[in-house]
Amino acid sequence: TLSDRLTSVLQNLRGKGKLSDADIDATAREIRIALLEADVALPVVREFIKHVKERAKGAEVSEALNPAQQVIKIVNEELVGILGGETRRVNLAKTPPTVIMLAGLQGSGKTTLAGKLATWLKKQGHAPMLVACDLQRPNAVTQLQVVGERAGVTTYAPEPGNGVGDPVDVAKRSIEEARHAQHDVVVVDTAGRLGVDEELMQQAADIRDAVQPDETLFVVDAMIGQDAVTTAEAFRDGVGFTGVVLTKLDGDARGGAALSVRQVTGEPILFASNGEKLEDFDVFHPDRMASRILGMGDMLTLIEQAEQAFDQEKAEQAASKLGTGDMTLEDFLEQMQAVRKMGPIGNLLGMLPGAGQMKDQLSQVDDSQIDRLQAIIRGMTPAERENPKIINASRRQRIANGSGVAVREVNDLVNRFYEARKMMQQMAGKFGFGGGGGSAT
Ligand code: GDP
Ligand code: MG
Repeated sequence: TLSDRLTSVLQNLRGKGKLSDADIDATAREIRIALLEADVALPVVREFIKHVKERAKGAEVSEALNPAQQVIKIVNEELVGILGGETRRVNLAKTPPTVIMLAGLQGSGKTTLAGKLATWLKKQGHAPMLVACDLQRPNAVTQLQVVGERAGVTTYAPEPGNGVGDPVDVAKRSIEEARHAQHDVVVVDTAGRLGVDEELMQQAADIRDAVQPDETLFVVDAMIGQDAVTTAEAFRDGVGFTGVVLTKLDGDARGGAALSVRQVTGEPILFASNGEKLEDFDVFHPDRMASRILGMGDMLTLIEQAEQAFDQEKAEQAASKLGTGDMTLEDFLEQMQAVRKMGPIGNLLGMLPGAGQMKDQLSQVDDSQIDRLQAIIRGMTPAERENPKIINASRRQRIANGSGVAVREVNDLVNRFYEARKMMQQMAGKFGFGGGGGSAT
């Protein structure tokens, strides 16, 4: 698997200071293969990898992660970002009914989706109505009616026996009917073809003009892989859509279609369908899809664990130093960063008598403040960091000038440091941590 390949290529390269270009290239090559195997379209892969490389080149090496893990972390974050970050909610009309139109190729799962959406909408407290505008295939209307019955919602369909009706006409009348019967959401099922063709696009566009949908959802089978891009482009140009629904994710599709469609059209993915039953449906989760595309959920968990373990190790090292009174300003900074990241340790500290103050101080520190503190500490000479006692007035002035802060801030920092050190010494005396254990780290 990809994770095996990556780990064996790049093991033991921990903490080299900066990711080397060779490390990044090697990892990028493997990621590229993973994306192509997941059926992401080639131009999308290229663009994506280029972007990730740029970001990786600017990244400091994390001491907690090896270069492969670090690049994967970046890839994962980028994937989640592109896939939408947060889920977008359905646009509801100011004046009901909200009209949701479904468009997509035949067999993509529109009719099935209509039932799933109706079920989901009902759970959200809506009173949806389905509309049968697929009058192309003889069974299409019945299929929607069956789906509607299962979902327990009304289905609006042309009267039987009148021959083939006009879908645009049905669509128009359905809105009247929805208003009349107080349905606040209308889901319009439309006809698809096996391939993209003009007649299909024209009909979908005519229905769209007739009902003025609040959402037009492009329904796409995740299994069609690379073809998703051309199909999405055709629907974007022919009908236009405001959101995407991925179907058949229960199959073995790796989900590359999601990334391609999202990247090429810029429209968000709203829902995911993963089975034939009404309940096989969920709002779309970018993070799950990202780990599916990468095919390395385990690796991502490992990365998370490695980072947490590393933070913990750091925090413990710092704590044992604090107790012996050897704490330097450098340690102080690290300690603050570690505590900020860990959260729970801050809470632990709060439970120790006398430590409440320390916790308050730490929790007041936000990231931008940590940046400022870091700037101040970086503005000190190594000797000053090791032994803050030598920081006299003129040194304070110099440090303030050098790091672009007021002298008062330098004073604050130094005072805070002394307080923290004193407190930690007292605590160490009381509770014995960091005392003569002698773990030479
Ligand atoms: P339409 O032509 O776009 O209306 O597609 P249908 O809703 O009729 O679905 C076509 C076929 O795909 C049917 O056999 C559905 O049962 C099946 N189908 C739809 N959605 C899913 C899904 O998420 N997973 C699976 N496995 N099958 C699905
Ligand atoms: Mg259908």
